[in-house]
Amino acid sequence: MERINITIIGAGVVGLAVGYELSKKYRDIFIIEKNFSFGQETSSRNSEVIHSGIYYPQDSLKAKTCREGKILLYDFCLKYNIPHKKIGKFIVANSSEEESGLYQLFQQGLNNGVEDLRLIANNEIKNLEPNIRAKLAIYSGSTGIIDTHSLMKNLSEQFNMQGGNIVYNIELVSIEKKGEDFILRVRNGRGEEFNFLSRIVVNSAGLNSDKIAEMAGIIRDEYKLKYCKGDYFRVHNNKARFINRLIYPVPKKERAGLGIHATLDLGGGLRLGPDDEYVDRIGYNVDESKKKIFYESVREFLPFIEQEDLSPDISGIRPRLQGPREDFRDFIINDEFDFGLPGLINLIGIESPGLTACLCIARIVREMVRKYF
Ligand SMILES: Cc1cc2nc3c(=O)[nH]c(=O)nc-3n(C[C@H](O)[C@H](O)[C@H](O)COP(=O)(O)OP(=O)(O)OC[C@H]3O[C@@H](n4cnc5c(N)ncnc54)[C@H](O)[C@@H]3O)c2cc1C
Repeated sequence: MERINITIIGAGVVGLAVGYELSKKYRDIFIIEKNFSFGQETSSRNSEVIHSGIYYPQDSLKAKTCREGKILLYDFCLKYNIPHKKIGKFIVANSSEEESGLYQLFQQGLNNGVEDLRLIANNEIKNLEPNIRAKLAIYSGSTGIIDTHSLMKNLSEQFNMQGGNIVYNIELVSIEKKGEDFILRVRNGRGEEFNFLSRIVVNSAGLNSDKIAEMAGIIRDEYKLKYCKGDYFRVHNNKARFINRLIYPVPKKERAGLGIHATLDLGGGLRLGPDDEYVDRIGYNVDESKKKIFYESVREFLPFIEQEDLSPDISGIRPRLQGPREDFRDFIINDEFDFGLPGLINLIGIESPGLTACLCIARIVREMVRKYF
């Protein structure tokens, strides 16, 4: 049976970043991907925002990988000409309840080491963003937007140039520990199955990552993913010209997301979203009847938007560890020696800020792999 050093399951932005990082040093690395190309799932269904790291509890992996990943990502973009723009973001408050949420968020951001945050009042808001309505805002200068497709294309090209191989249309169907190695069983597009051995397996399978851990024999409630769908609506009628930055509300405690917000893209377009809705199955249809809810969610702070400006756009699904109204859950980035599976590195629950954090997650995986070679 063929034996290779490292297999990465999944060619989303995280799997590609891990491949890029590991192929700098190691040989005989494969990324296997069940789709016909990279980035066909969550990595191409998101807001494409480089987050600054305000939202996550201090010392969490989400806070650390977001803060450090953001710096790595901006450097990477400059070095390899990946289209991006550090346009900055406002989180806005209008009611006294929102204001107190805003102060808490500001403190959280400072605790997380986000150094560029400023609290700004009505006058300055009016100067910088004359068309929005806000009494108080957090200004985050290090937030930006990125062309995720170009990022993934560049990562995959560098992975190949460094000697890595990506195999598309190959799905992992079973995984079993055998001595020092894992036997991986895969199925190709024609339905043919075959086995090979791999010393290290990095499970970066996004929405399937809990099932792959289960295939390997780790059956834990803590690993079970819940699907939290986020829909977007496109804003037409040239309304993108009314704002210069990303505009977010203060997240509501009872909601699972950051709150429906306004995101500019690199093509000059404007979208609202994502919302948050737990679903049982993967499906990307956006229900047009949500238009009113989207409009009502933003009309207070984005008064220039009319309901008629909106039409359904893309959606994405967060691979989330916490269910509705459950407490914060962090990324799982584990080498599973505790389960008798050393060399199986599970990446589970890599929801937002996974795009921002991808290069930092890759370095954490690199440190885990180091002890095997
Ligand atoms: C609505 C939404 C908005 C978001 N906004 C942001 C944002 O603005 N900023 C940010 O930083 N993050 C954001 N995120 C999070 C970010 O998109 C994800 O964290 C990131 O894309 C995860 O990448 P991934 O490579 O782990 O997963 P994926 O992109 O899902 O890739 C996993 C890959 O594994 C493959 N796979 C699965 N099972 C198998 C198998 N058995 N065999 C072979 N291949 C398999 C899949 O086909 C897939 O290609 C958002 C997410 C959502 C849903």
